[in-house]
Amino acid sequence: TLHRDKKPSWIKVRLPNNPAFWSTKSLITDLKLVTVCEEAQCPNRWECWGQGTATFMIAGDKCTRACGFCAVKTARPDALESDEPDRVAEATRRMNLRHVVITAVARDDMKDGGAEHFQKTIEAVRAANPGIIIEVLVPDFNDRDWALSMVMDARPHIFNHNLETVERLTPLVRSRAKYQRSLTVLKKAKAMANGNVSTKSGMMLGLGERHDEILRSMDDLLEHDVTVLTLGQYLRPTPKHLPVVDYVTPEKFDEYKAIALEKGFRHVASGPLVRSSYHAADFRPELDVL
Ligand code: SF4
Ligand code: SF4
Repeated sequence: TLHRDKKPSWIKVRLPNNPAFWSTKSLITDLKLVTVCEEAQCPNRWECWGQGTATFMIAGDKCTRACGFCAVKTARPDALESDEPDRVAEATRRMNLRHVVITAVARDDMKDGGAEHFQKTIEAVRAANPGIIIEVLVPDFNDRDWALSMVMDARPHIFNHNLETVERLTPLVRSRAKYQRSLTVLKKAKAMANGNVSTKSGMMLGLGERHDEILRSMDDLLEHDVTVLTLGQYLRPTPKHLPVVDYVTPEKFDEYKAIALEKGFRHVASGPLVRSSYHAADFRPELDVL
């Protein structure tokens, strides 16, 4: 680990040097879509957009929560746009995606937390693009099972909900979310789909967590039937956000990957610039869910 103020050499931002980046950008602008790539200031956007992929953020660009690590604006959200599901579907068609990741802000202002909007978006994408793998990265819906089941009724292939950090640091890092509730949401989602969904979760490292706490979280996720894991370095979006406590080396990320696979995860992406949706299409869910 290094001192927090010095960004190590392995945290490199790639510059846009490829025409595919600009065509992804203009398509997203034309269809008036919001991406988490931009809203969260993801360091991989040159690479992902340059490869013609992006992660769509539905239900607006203003979040009702204010997590200490997150660059998404906190404000009273706007009304849902009823044509947004079709615009996301159209984007996946134009981009020729075989795997799409759809996420949303936490809509604590709505009873269903935006679940029906997720459902409609999944259905619109599937109708426009039969055969596409649909991955959703969802908030916790405030423990409302009926809302979660609206999302699961639309049969996403991959259900992703991030723990973000270890149990001890959760109150510091996440706004209203709770560690145990997130684990429960993951387990319930799998049960609601009768096992016909791959569940996925991720954590950011470098927030002050200890090695043994990371291993404990891996065990907790496995005990809640999660099979896909992402681990990446936390980067501070602005000085108002939580400081980086340390930079985890690429070798240490490799070590965590080996440990996670050994413990029983089916697929693990672990590295400094790994994000929840980074190279998401590298994981192909079990065939019986397609
Ligand atoms: Fe977007 Fe995910 Fe790629 Fe980041 S890693 S640019 S959020 S698709
Ligand atoms: Fe960001 Fe937290 Fe809102 Fe998710 S719930 S968009 S992590 S502020």
